[in-house]
Amino acid sequence: AKNLGRNRFHYFTPCMQKEAQARRRLISDLRLALADRQFRVQYQPIVDLSTGAISKAEALIRWQHPTRGMVSPAEFIPIAEETGLIVEIGDWVFREVAWQLSRWRERYPQLVVSLNTSPVQYRNSGIDHHGWFRYLHDMGVPASAISVEITEGLLLDTSTAITNQILRFREAGAGVALDDFGTGYSSMSYLSKLDIDYLKIDRSFILDLAPESESVALYEAMIVMAHKLGIKVIAEGVETEEQCRILKAVGCDYAQGYLFSRPVLPEEFEALLRDGPAR
Ligand code: C2E
Ligand code: CA
Ligand code: CA
Ligand code: CA
Repeated sequence: AKNLGRNRFHYFTPCMQKEAQARRRLISDLRLALADRQFRVQYQPIVDLSTGAISKAEALIRWQHPTRGMVSPAEFIPIAEETGLIVEIGDWVFREVAWQLSRWRERYPQLVVSLNTSPVQYRNSGIDHHGWFRYLHDMGVPASAISVEITEGLLLDTSTAITNQILRFREAGAGVALDDFGTGYSSMSYLSKLDIDYLKIDRSFILDLAPESESVALYEAMIVMAHKLGIKVIAEGVETEEQCRILKAVGCDYAQGYLFSRPVLPEEFEALLRDGPAR
């Protein structure tokens, strides 16, 4: 609505019509994608900084469209959320992960895979906990092999309906991780309210993590507080040896980032499990 004044109510320019059309096409493509098996899950290792070994992985969805090519989750997840398709997509990711875990856990019984969950899934009662736990059971995978990542925004929603859903994961033995910490509005006080196992410090904090910089103090303060609350810390977006060294020095528990590996398809992740991360 740039055209104020006389044309104040003339909102739909031809350009916007095109945008709306493109959006509708993306939505219908997204609906087809599940049935047409266009989604994949990639796994990014999460390294235990005290041992240097891979102890977990984050599952990240990929959409390989026949003509669009790879569509970034940053592009389609918001649309999946707006349309409610995220519920089905979230179920699909969960089943995919459960199936992979049933294969991997035989050889790597401690491996934990973390999956992203959207606030929309919780708000629409889109997570069938009972069904999920039964599925894991049928696959021979304990609930403790998964961890769910939630975003800060969800914690602001203090309705018991939502906290109960998060608690059901914990009661079953699954981990709960707070994703993108530091980007939203929540503070440490929210952490103590809900039993969280892991805090994932957002990549934006690592960008200026250099010796003597203020962000080192910030990082350290977040880690100390998390530890006091019994929460382990995962640093996101670790790309350099120097960042890794500083993270170890300030007591960070786990690290994830291109330094160790990009997200990779299951076969490649298996090779990483076997041979260890590249560094
Ligand atoms: P996120 O949960 O914060 O995931 C981390 C993102 O950072 C991933 O982007 C990952 O590829 C990227 N990343 C990891 N290490 C590095 C690094 O060292 N440097 C840089 N620059 N980036 C790094 P991706 O896979 O494109 O996913 C983007 C977002 O889409 C995710 O952010 C998450 O919010 C969402 N997403 C992905 N998969 C799913 C899913 O299955 N369900 C839901 N609800 N959301 C998902
Ligand atoms: Ca995440
Ligand atoms: Ca994140
Ligand atoms: Ca992030």
